Amino acid sequence: PGAFDALKELLSPYPLHQNANDNAKIPKLPKPRMASLRTLYDPLSNTAPNDQSSTRNDASSTTQQRDPLDSALVLTFPNPNSFTGEDIVEIHCHGSRAVVMGILDALSTITITSTTTDDDDTNIVQHKLRPADPGEFTQRAYANGKLGLVEVEALSDLIVADTSLQRKQALRQFDGRLSRLYEGWRTDLIKGLAHAEAVIDFGDDEALDDDHDESYPSTENDGGMSIWGTIAPRISSLRKDMERHLADASRGELLRDGLRIAIVGRPNAGKSSLLNLLAGRDAAIVSSSPGTTRDVVEVLLDLGGARCTLLDTAGVREEEEEGVNEIEIEGMKRARVAARDAHFIVGVVDATDYRRGLDAVNELIQQEEGVKNAGNIMYVLNKLDLVEEKDKEECIRALQDTAKFGISCTTSEGVDDFLSYLTQQALSRVSGSGKDEFSVEGTEGAVITRARHRRHVEAAANALQRFEVLSGQGYMALDMAAEELRLAASELGRITGAIDVEDVLDVLFADFCIGK
Ligand code: GDP
Ligand code: ZN
Repeated sequence: PGAFDALKELLSPYPLHQNANDNAKIPKLPKPRMASLRTLYDPLSNTAPNDQSSTRNDASSTTQQRDPLDSALVLTFPNPNSFTGEDIVEIHCHGSRAVVMGILDALSTITITSTTTDDDDTNIVQHKLRPADPGEFTQRAYANGKLGLVEVEALSDLIVADTSLQRKQALRQFDGRLSRLYEGWRTDLIKGLAHAEAVIDFGDDEALDDDHDESYPSTENDGGMSIWGTIAPRISSLRKDMERHLADASRGELLRDGLRIAIVGRPNAGKSSLLNLLAGRDAAIVSSSPGTTRDVVEVLLDLGGARCTLLDTAGVREEEEEGVNEIEIEGMKRARVAARDAHFIVGVVDATDYRRGLDAVNELIQQEEGVKNAGNIMYVLNKLDLVEEKDKEECIRALQDTAKFGISCTTSEGVDDFLSYLTQQALSRVSGSGKDEFSVEGTEGAVITRARHRRHVEAAANALQRFEVLSGQGYMALDMAAEELRLAASELGRITGAIDVEDVLDVLFADFCIGK
């Protein structure tokens, strides 16, 4: 609360309390939201309080200047027009450790005095400045109604976005379109609920009398059909909207959380070499002795805006083969798990030994029951530089798959083609098109980005499904049917924070970096 007083103290070349009654000596704050170049003074450089300076005369103690700390740009954002809705000061100082520490130390010594009144008592409260907790600025913005919960989540995503598409998605959510979608649904449900309750309390006819809501057309025009008959179709179309939204769900979540691409194949097939080529740096250990990559190496890749984690796995081969030891068997186990959990599998096959290589990849895919991604496997025939020109065709044909590429990690031949294909595949998983854009059907590009949202929308859609069953059972089930509407509305309210979400808040704000 004392941000502006603290700034005045920093801008003052003399201790402010000595000049408290001399308005001319109190530094002027810059105009709101205007950057102003100022000298910051160090309150620690002149700590001798006025009343104890018996050895000095008063004149000298008021004229003794504080040491300058820095020349800095200073901005003020008076409430309520700030990020948090409170008074905020920004100091854009030079970036050296000495300057930053000097300013932080200076701020920590400043005491702010404020008066509060409760129960007719006036209390004088003294505050020390302290550093913000992680996410505290955003938390205050939320508490002061500056941001909705969905926007807070978007901001958190924006801060950690690695790729352009992640940034776009976070910004789309930040602009409130996802909130508007959920709030719109919730409003519809609450209207439906109000109608349902009117029917329950007063019966069909009376409830109709003072009903002029356009969105629930009067039943007078449709042959005396009960009002229930007009709510039900609305609710059912709402449920269909939710289900369409849910069908899209994996895209936003995939973009936010990133895609996993596992590179598998026999030892020495060139998996690590391929990973290094794709990553453009030596991220994995490449070695000519088989079994070097025992653990899974992960590299973060930006494929056309899609965030992807590339996984280099241990080579897989027959456990009976010569030289296979326990460590290698463990490595193979991890390779299988990586393949199982991946969104795409890249099977690398050594062209000079392609039959065994292909067998190894196929076996791995079949072994892992959970490989839901068998359709998302790409075969890469590596070391084409070692194959005679006339044999290349035959090798590639042997791969018998639609997604197959012949490459050489040594000469880089074919790698670009493969990379384009991989990028296009990744993009189509996260954006619904092979391009760097979102498909924007129905919900204006508002896609589910978090499992938390998905769970609430699912719960709401399920409640509406039960509503449909109950509302078909006539007047006796009305109460129960209305309860399902209430439940669905409150599930949607939990997404946007309209309904209590204490548990969510703690987790969410802890995710923020310090001071945001
Ligand atoms: P991994 O065990 O599958 O990860 O295989 P590595 O990437 O460690 O490569 C094994 C060996 O094959 C290394 O000596 C690489 O230099 C070599 N190698 C990888 N790709 C090629 C290629 O396209 N052509 C040739 N001639 N050698 C390659
Ligand atoms: Zn390797």
